[in-house]
Amino acid sequence: MTASTAPGNLFIVAAPSGAGKSSLIKALLDKYADNSMQVSVSSTTRAPRPGEVDGVHYHFLDVEAFEKRIAAGEFYEWAKVFDNYYGTSRKVVESLLADGKDVFLDIDWQGAQQVREHHPEVRSIFIVPPSLSILEQRLRARGQDSEDVIAKRMAKAQAEMSHYHEFDYLLVNDDFNDSLNALEQIVMAQRHKMPHQQVRYSQVLKELLGSSG
Ligand code: GDP
Ligand code: ADP
Ligand code: 5GP
Repeated sequence: MTASTAPGNLFIVAAPSGAGKSSLIKALLDKYADNSMQVSVSSTTRAPRPGEVDGVHYHFLDVEAFEKRIAAGEFYEWAKVFDNYYGTSRKVVESLLADGKDVFLDIDWQGAQQVREHHPEVRSIFIVPPSLSILEQRLRARGQDSEDVIAKRMAKAQAEMSHYHEFDYLLVNDDFNDSLNALEQIVMAQRHKMPHQQVRYSQVLKELLGSSG
């Protein structure tokens, strides 16, 4: 079937650290192995965790290099989270969207506020754990942060969650598969919205409607 390239949809997924955001995004992308969904790889000044690969999980930069990029206007949004800089590359997001990809930004609430300002049609999803004690268990189960870092993330969790109402959708990530299904439905509903479908299926619509199209 002929399909034209309509611009992709932009999604923000935010959550307190450990709520399951990265696992949910990864599972959704694995399910759609056609590359139609992409996650934007952020830059950060935090140290890589064991197993994290530069350019795959993050672009790891030192503070000086990050600040140079801020000054050059290279970030679509950036914020300080847990004393480290995090930012999204403007060029990458814009080229993925132009290429028709659905793009996920795994960013904090400060970044979400900036993105809404220049991209009001963004759909934003907030993920919370079913309880604080489960959040702590998940952070420990992930086994990648020191006790010190876990305590810091737990202390910041409530501040992050206090912004939940600024988002379009709320997922309580209790059963993983239920959350994954809900996330998929949100993305699919957006994908099928009218202006995008009109571009994507312009040939089909022309054929169906003839001269009245
Ligand atoms: P995790 O939350 O445990 O997965 O830890 P990360 O170190 O991956 O992320 C830390 C925080 O930084 C989270 O709140 C992310 O949403 C946020 N973050 C990651 N990348 C970006 C980004 O590019 N921009 C902004 N504004 N926040 C980001
Ligand atoms: P985030 O990206 O939000 O910091 P992760 O995706 O790294 O969180 O998830 C934190 C930990 O919790 C991981 O070990 C992950 O496997 C686990 N996890 C995520 N969602 C669930 C769930 N619904 N039930 C049980 N464990 C989960
Ligand atoms: P972590 O250090 O655990 O990978 O991430 C900590 C927090 O930083 C998470 O809440 C994550 O969503 C956020 N974060 C990661 N990348 C970015 C980014 O590019 N921009 C913003 N604003 N936040 C980010």
